[in-house]
Amino acid sequence: MNILLIGSGGRESAFAYKISESPLTSQLFIAPGNAGTGAYGKNVDIKVTDFESLGEFSLKNEINLVLVGPEEPLVKGIHDYFLKNEALKHIPIIGPTAIGAQLEGSKDFSKQFMHRHGIPTALSASFTKATLDEGLKYLESREVPIVLKADGLAAGKGVLICSTIEEAKEELIAMLADAKFGEASNKVVIEDFLKGIELSVFVLTDGKDYKILPAAKDYKRIGEGDTGLNTGGMGSVSPVPFADEIFLKKVEDLVVVPTVEGLKKDGIPYKGFIFIGLMNDNGNPYVIEYNVRMGDPETESVLPRIESDFVDLLLGVAQENLSEKSFEISAKTAATVMIVSGGYPGKYENGKAISGLENVKESIIFHAGTTLVNDEVRTAGGRVLAVTALKDNLLDALQQATADAGRIFFEGKEFRRDIGFDLID
Ligand code: ATP
Repeated sequence: MNILLIGSGGRESAFAYKISESPLTSQLFIAPGNAGTGAYGKNVDIKVTDFESLGEFSLKNEINLVLVGPEEPLVKGIHDYFLKNEALKHIPIIGPTAIGAQLEGSKDFSKQFMHRHGIPTALSASFTKATLDEGLKYLESREVPIVLKADGLAAGKGVLICSTIEEAKEELIAMLADAKFGEASNKVVIEDFLKGIELSVFVLTDGKDYKILPAAKDYKRIGEGDTGLNTGGMGSVSPVPFADEIFLKKVEDLVVVPTVEGLKKDGIPYKGFIFIGLMNDNGNPYVIEYNVRMGDPETESVLPRIESDFVDLLLGVAQENLSEKSFEISAKTAATVMIVSGGYPGKYENGKAISGLENVKESIIFHAGTTLVNDEVRTAGGRVLAVTALKDNLLDALQQATADAGRIFFEGKEFRRDIGFDLID
């Protein structure tokens, strides 16, 4: 079958790697892809939100399945666009329609969903400019730290953790009255602070049934020891040692089942991935957020551990027979170290020549922000390459991925040498 993969990051490189392994794949196209995805399929120069061109391309190239990597086209309704078009509606899309994508696109929607279906999460209330005074009063009834979240997508920047009520009040005014995050903060969710350790659990669903993918932990801060500014993610590991079987069973019973059932009850057809951001508080799971796609760089650790045919799983989603599909997970540990441009997550320069890729023999290199210029691989983003090692134990995987990240070079290159080492006893 012919598959169109939409996106251009490390996550999409990992998808492309798995899709290209499958005997079910005839042709793989990646729109727009990067310098690395070209090794697994054909890159196509179409933007992820150019639905018209993606539709035309799909028809012309007899695409049988579309996998959407990032959230933006989902929230903007790529699935709905295909469904509404007579010529395109037969092509299955892996990724929810716009209403399902609201689980990520609107924090108020997602909190209401959780509260409605009894899914454990922090207590919260939502306010708009018209109810600002009530919001300020509500803050006085809460304890610190307290969390303020812009309702809409704000590139991971719309969440503020305030350590005094005064600060929270100032921020609430800035968000609602002064549009600190533009339209995204037309509504603000005020949420109690959750204690514990964070981890992510990923679910693939056909709307009827589900498979729980391996859990992963990501490392968000730029600096070693988890210090400094937040980034898109500097590394990840899978499995997560502190997410034992008992905890994961609780996640399944208290979170995954009510989420899939809740979507059904609400009449939201959902075919695709659900990324559940969780807090593990003394062995009890609380949902921090839903994302409607896989995480990056968690995908780079999670996918190499899936031993079953990944395309067959996607077909199970498309044909609503996921429960019949084989689902084998490797017992090995995957560790991913991100190599980033100097200056990231602040200002950085693109276009640096990358060398040493051939030095890496034992890890998989997933390209993220790269491009080809006259056959030379150059940097083209903050997060440039993800280096993933799959080994029998966590320490070996961490040491391999970290050492291999050191074997690749470009001007200004940075990576964290401590990813995952906090999980070693
Ligand atoms: P991203 O897409 O980068 O994960 P986001 O903008 O979608 O971020 P959230 O995931 O809801 O927002 O929050 C970002 C981070 O803030 C979380 O990963 C978590 O570390 C912290 N956080 C959010 N809500 C809470 C909470 N209630 N208690 C404690 N920490 C929280």
